[in-house]
Amino acid sequence: MTALTNLPPTAELQRLDAAHHLHPFTHGAGLRDKGVRVITSADGVWLTDSEGNRILDAMAGLWCVNIGYGRQELVEAAAAQMAELPFYNTFFQTSHVPAIKLAERLAQLAPDHLNHVFFASSGSEANDTNIRLVRTYWEMKGQPQKKAIISRWNAYHGSSVGSGSLGGMKGMHAQGGMPIPDIHHIDQPDWWSEGGDMTPEDFGRARAKLLEDKILEIGADNVAAFIAEPVQGAGGVIVPPETYWPEVQKIVDKYGILLIADEVICGFGRTGNWFGSETVGIRPDIMTVAKGMSSGYQPIGGSIVSDEIADVIGGGEFNHGYTYSGHPVACAVALENLRLLDEEGIVDRVRDHTAPYLKQKFESLTDHPMVGEAKIVGMMGSIALTPHKESRAAFKADAGTVGLICRERCFANNLVMRHVGDRMIVSPSLTISDDEIDTLIERARTSLDEAMAEVE
Ligand code: PLP
Repeated sequence: MTALTNLPPTAELQRLDAAHHLHPFTHGAGLRDKGVRVITSADGVWLTDSEGNRILDAMAGLWCVNIGYGRQELVEAAAAQMAELPFYNTFFQTSHVPAIKLAERLAQLAPDHLNHVFFASSGSEANDTNIRLVRTYWEMKGQPQKKAIISRWNAYHGSSVGSGSLGGMKGMHAQGGMPIPDIHHIDQPDWWSEGGDMTPEDFGRARAKLLEDKILEIGADNVAAFIAEPVQGAGGVIVPPETYWPEVQKIVDKYGILLIADEVICGFGRTGNWFGSETVGIRPDIMTVAKGMSSGYQPIGGSIVSDEIADVIGGGEFNHGYTYSGHPVACAVALENLRLLDEEGIVDRVRDHTAPYLKQKFESLTDHPMVGEAKIVGMMGSIALTPHKESRAAFKADAGTVGLICRERCFANNLVMRHVGDRMIVSPSLTISDDEIDTLIERARTSLDEAMAEVE
């Protein structure tokens, strides 16, 4: 535990932060006017800030601390690996034990045909790898014109120029000349906001059909891959209608297009199975992984690829890699994290108990006057805020204003929930207890009441 007495006072930390620290996805005015909340320690699902507040983290950090905070085993795995071999690379025909063991373990956990791992340090890097992997694969197969990658508006695949281009966040594209060439986007399967009068089932089929239309527009001979999150996370936990994924799988099979499942959030138990691909019933050629692989204790990501792709790529040299591809400390920590998730039955318990309990409690929020729908898969869920449930109307204020108010109320009530537009999200650690789920829901309800009073 950090001794709070050793810290400079919060106001001084906030002043220094505003003076020198540029933050990701944060409006500068907020930093200057209100200052940051400084988190000093964490345990289980609880954060402590520099004022001594205990805050329930319903977002597992950034959807990543699957095992919960404060696991000493992971600290020891990191320390032991640092003492033994703090760094060596995996370039030029070298390797080391943690990378070898982690690659083997990931191959065991992943669907049968995915047995090869290319390591990165983040989800963004892994998706950049995927752009190069799929294009190199087709080039090596004698089809260099197959370059186009199709993705979806409102998808999130990372923040580098490549992965940000794959993503469909228009606000990101507007800054810095994205998307890069040969990336295309189709509309997302968000029935609540975009489904109009259609049934969810018809809408799911219609949105899948957009993939076929786009393939035909570009020409199947020019399309390398389709990338998607099994359940969109940062887009607002958009749970696709059940008709969506089976149709998408048929379409990629029909046209010989590689399927990349971005499992950065969905992987490692988040949806109630080891991978979201199992939950939605798809057979990807590549899975992007990160976050829950190490429960965020070390930065690590990767691309788990099929035997077919590995065979082709292995026929030559893939001119790609990061200094920290397969970093030994990150690999050792990830291995230990996967061991605990497995041996303590954490993923099994999510499926059999925690996710059903969270679903029941979370869905009860729909009786709140401001909550339209509550959608949840495993341990990731969102509620849609609306002034009128029947018509699924949006608030007249700028999109996201009510969500932001609600997030601020949660924060004031010592609960971290995230807002995306006017959706409020939870994605807690998989180890959250029933009592903690009850506290989460109580605090969410109080915050919704307060936000409603502020909006009216
Ligand atoms: N892919 C998905 C689905 C994500 O949610 C994220 C991050 O939230 C990323 C990729 C990017 O991962 P990172 O932030 O580790 O680069």
